[in-house]
Amino acid sequence: MWTDRQPAYHNRLHIERVPAQTIALLVDYGVPPAALGVDRLFEQRYLQWSGTGPVCLNGAASANVSRPGLERALFGLAESCGVKFCIGAVPYAAIADPARLLFDATGRAGVTAARRWRPANPVVSRTFQFTASPAPHHATLALAAGSEGYAYRLGNRHGLCLGVVGGRDLIRGQWPEIRERIVRFAPWIVSGLPGADGQAGRAGACSLQWADAGPRAILIGDAAIARDALSSQGLAMGLGAALHAVSKAVIGSTPGPQRNGPVQRAEHARRVLAMISAAAFGSQPLWKEYGGFLQKAAMKLA
Ligand SMILES: Cc1cc2nc3c(=O)[nH]c(=O)nc-3n(C[C@H](O)[C@H](O)[C@H](O)COP(=O)(O)OP(=O)(O)OC[C@H]3O[C@@H](n4cnc5c(N)ncnc54)[C@H](O)[C@@H]3O)c2cc1C
Repeated sequence: MWTDRQPAYHNRLHIERVPAQTIALLVDYGVPPAALGVDRLFEQRYLQWSGTGPVCLNGAASANVSRPGLERALFGLAESCGVKFCIGAVPYAAIADPARLLFDATGRAGVTAARRWRPANPVVSRTFQFTASPAPHHATLALAAGSEGYAYRLGNRHGLCLGVVGGRDLIRGQWPEIRERIVRFAPWIVSGLPGADGQAGRAGACSLQWADAGPRAILIGDAAIARDALSSQGLAMGLGAALHAVSKAVIGSTPGPQRNGPVQRAEHARRVLAMISAAAFGSQPLWKEYGGFLQKAAMKLA
């Protein structure tokens, strides 16, 4: 297996939310929840979206996992099954070799894809990490919409992650400036977070995109479809797609039916569009343009 980086090469904390079923699947494969910073499940979330807030909503149980822990655990699992890793970019010769079946899990880059579909101006996120162990009500997923974009917060035993998503006017600058901007629309979401020492973490596109596969590779995870960050679905769907594709190719059977990709994508686009339209930031040019892309994605069923 080629990968251009070791797991958690920078070791910076990054926290993402997965359904409780994903934790059960990982436990089945011998990954202990504690290695992912998980010590509880959450059935609630705090939301301030189209009005003032926050309101507390109930939903399906989920857990907040640390990405460095998850990546280390999955690498360890693969190594223990005899997978050999080559550290470096996938060589062109491997991509072009007609005798080779490739599983392309290179994320949004989708290096083997024949064609990628994404907004001309993708919506971008930045995250900030805080390593002190948060109180339970701070660890619960919280989302708040402002006039330029939104902020979210979630935590686990390892710390707390604060993300901002939207245009330059919201996400530019250092943590203290960004904190000030968030305070203007949702002071509660940053209350208790230090004003000074947010450590910058992952940043990049977080809007919907997808790709058409090339002739020999099977696209997996974000390489096939990178969902909008609003859905918190990328990890669970990517792990499911990986199990499905590898089982089919290697042992000829599949662990259950795979849902129709274009239909799934259209449903996802419609849900995200509805959320954006309900938020104050939905009328900003960046978001309106993205809304137009989502509208086309919602219609495109093949
Ligand atoms: C702001 C934000 C918040 C999110 N929150 C959540 C959440 O709460 N829950 C959730 O489930 N999902 C969330 N997601 C989505 C989630 O992060 C992705 O769905 C997930 O990371 C996809 O995993 P992946 O392995 O497909 O791709 P990636 O994690 O992008 O991994 C791709 C890997 O391929 C490597 N690579 C790239 N090019 C090459 C090459 N040429 N050769 C070799 N290696 C290469 C990269 O270095 C990388 O390690 C969020 C995303 C964003 C942006």
